[in-house]
Amino acid sequence: MTSKLIKTEQTANLYQRYLEKGMPVNPPSGTSNLLDCADGHGQKATSVSSKAFIKTVLLIEHDPARFLKIQEMFNHPAAHSFSFTGVQDMAAAERYLAGHSIDVVLLDLEQPDAPGLEGVRRIHVALPRVALVLLCDPGNEPTAVQAMQSGAQDYLIKDEVEAQELMRAMRNAVERKILEEALFREKEQAEVTLESIGDAVICSDRLGKISFLNPVAETMTGWRLKEAIGRPIREVFRIMDAATGLAAENPMSIAIGENLRALLPANCALQRRDGSEIFIEDSVAPIHDREGLVCGSVLVFRDVTAARSLAAQIAHLAEHDSLTGLPNRLLLKDRLGQAIARAHRNRGLLAILFLDLDGFKHVNDSLGHVVGDQLLQSVAKRLESCVRAPDTLSRQGGDEFVVLLQEVQHPEDAANTASRLLTAVARTHVIGHRELHITASIGASIYPVDGLNAEILIQNADTAMYQAKEKGRRNFRFFMPKMNVRSVERQSIEEDLRRALERNEFTLLYQPKFNIETAAITGAETLLRWMHPTRGLVLPAQFIPIAEASGLILDIGVWVRREACRQARVWADRCLSLPTMAVNVSAIEFRSPDFLSELLSTLDQTGLDPKSLELELTESVLLNRLDATATLLQSIREKGIKVTIDDFGTGYSSLSYLQKLPLDALKIGHSFFRQIANVPHDNSILGAIISIGRSLRLRVIIEGIETAEDIELLKAHDCEEGQGFLLSPPVPAEQFASLLEAHIH
Ligand code: C2E
Ligand code: MG
Ligand code: MG
Repeated sequence: MTSKLIKTEQTANLYQRYLEKGMPVNPPSGTSNLLDCADGHGQKATSVSSKAFIKTVLLIEHDPARFLKIQEMFNHPAAHSFSFTGVQDMAAAERYLAGHSIDVVLLDLEQPDAPGLEGVRRIHVALPRVALVLLCDPGNEPTAVQAMQSGAQDYLIKDEVEAQELMRAMRNAVERKILEEALFREKEQAEVTLESIGDAVICSDRLGKISFLNPVAETMTGWRLKEAIGRPIREVFRIMDAATGLAAENPMSIAIGENLRALLPANCALQRRDGSEIFIEDSVAPIHDREGLVCGSVLVFRDVTAARSLAAQIAHLAEHDSLTGLPNRLLLKDRLGQAIARAHRNRGLLAILFLDLDGFKHVNDSLGHVVGDQLLQSVAKRLESCVRAPDTLSRQGGDEFVVLLQEVQHPEDAANTASRLLTAVARTHVIGHRELHITASIGASIYPVDGLNAEILIQNADTAMYQAKEKGRRNFRFFMPKMNVRSVERQSIEEDLRRALERNEFTLLYQPKFNIETAAITGAETLLRWMHPTRGLVLPAQFIPIAEASGLILDIGVWVRREACRQARVWADRCLSLPTMAVNVSAIEFRSPDFLSELLSTLDQTGLDPKSLELELTESVLLNRLDATATLLQSIREKGIKVTIDDFGTGYSSLSYLQKLPLDALKIGHSFFRQIANVPHDNSILGAIISIGRSLRLRVIIEGIETAEDIELLKAHDCEEGQGFLLSPPVPAEQFASLLEAHIH
């Protein structure tokens, strides 16, 4: 059937005419509305709304008499805000709604082509947001009530309806629909927000029973919304103090009971349904009804487990050394501060042990940082095994460790621990496939005698450690006040050393080496002297270690070699040829990357025959990185330069490396030789060393020959070459030249 659009002011005749002609009707209403409409068959009737507040009404009524009756009602003054359109059946209504916007549909519930709830359903399909008022027979009221539950806004008994009542019902229906829509939108928005936010949200009613859980809350608690609803909050949201494990007060009860916003307790952990725990944080707020009374609460929280563990990690990093995991300088200071306060109260003692590895730099330089780091880790483990629980072992950086000993009864306790630490460090360290040996030196200071605060105690233990090192390797010293004077002195020497080269304060002395049998001069050793402007003559033992530690030795060494080569060349030009001119080279110089190239360019510039140059290296130079050392020594010797191991017998004295390295001579240190020479009955060691040298085809040079008896002893052992005060102490160049001249003649 064709739809019919009816103008409200038109008569029944007109309606009839259109019915017959099957034409759509433009219904300019009594409220002067013009509507733009289509009947679904392309026929158009145009009308434009001039007032925005006018509501459009579509009547669906199959009964012509009732249609007219209702249409007539729209002429009533109460209908001024409605613009009326009518159709006869549902199919026409659907077509019309497809092209038009309508505010209210007035539907006869007994519509033949869509009776009862079906009509309601079809209207909602055609225009979901439209307000719907039903007209029904009195007997059909239950269906009308049902229809209201499925979205209709109101119903009227069709034959009792009057204009005013109809208009009021429609106005209410429109308003209600608008409110419903707004409410729906808000609810949608709230739901989407709650579902998509990253925080967990739990709502409860006034009695503390769960009314809502968003998906994050579901995941975090382990409870599904469906299962949780209606359960007491404490069952689903179990919280406790993370430190003590004791149940914590649920802030929802505060929010509901006291009508206050509340925070979750600090350090709060949530026990999930499966028993696992997570750290959580955040707050709870009361929910109010219209009267402002508390009707529930909303709890918002988030998982801070990752953030907590990150914070803990950062705090740990700030106070611990990353390589060994030991407390660092900062944490030590903190603990020492507390320990001092305690010791002060209890009139107790404390000890600080400052430990530094001997020759660690060589390990690092020769075997690389990776091995160096592994060695430090191994040392840290050893040290750890020697300290007790109340003590703190810390790494200060580099190869320095500091131990804080608490509960010290006597200073000897510190000495005992130090001795345990030294022994532990000295045991073989297995790093990868290598076996490494290292020793340590320790200095100790005692609270309160050596200092009253952390800084002074550590500083004095450090000073004592330096003193221990000066005595040799693997030593322990207690701090003594006079040591401070020495460390100040050490600093001032270093400062002066920095200017010594440019101020031309260095000079070289020369000491002859000679043939023990014939007393002929076989060479010279250059020995450095520092003419200090105020201290006077400074011996190498007083400044070489400082020059090495500060790196100044590199420039000093370059100067020494240049001066020695220049001098040898001058003598050669004066026909005072020396078989060899020896220079001392410390480990740091030998390891410097441009050592060889610098040496060759010195020879080149001074024009000295490389065969006349001899390098005296101490055993420590040769200790690590045997292969690289062998290669470098090989290149040195290929140029004709000679290489001697100096002070043999005082250092590491390992025969295995002597076999592997290309060398020319072994030099027995003067202190070692003096020890042997002073025990005339036991010469077995001297004999052994000399025969080792021979078996390795090395020259053996004895240093420190002071008496005629020494000469006899050495002759008895067929020792060929020596050096010592007996023939000549180290002398200035001119004096040495006279010595040479005398010998030649
Ligand atoms: P060294 O290479 O073993 O030098 C020999 C030391 O023994 C020299 O001490 C020398 O004066 C001393 N001496 C010589 N004959 C006798 C003797 O008959 N009896 C005794 N008791 N001692 C004797 P000096 O000049 O004090 O040098 C000490 C150390 O300083 C040297 O030991 C060497 O290792 C180092 N040194 C000296 N000059 C230089 C240098 O230019 N560069 C480097 N890197 N080190 C140097
Ligand atoms: Mg020497
Ligand atoms: Mg020597």
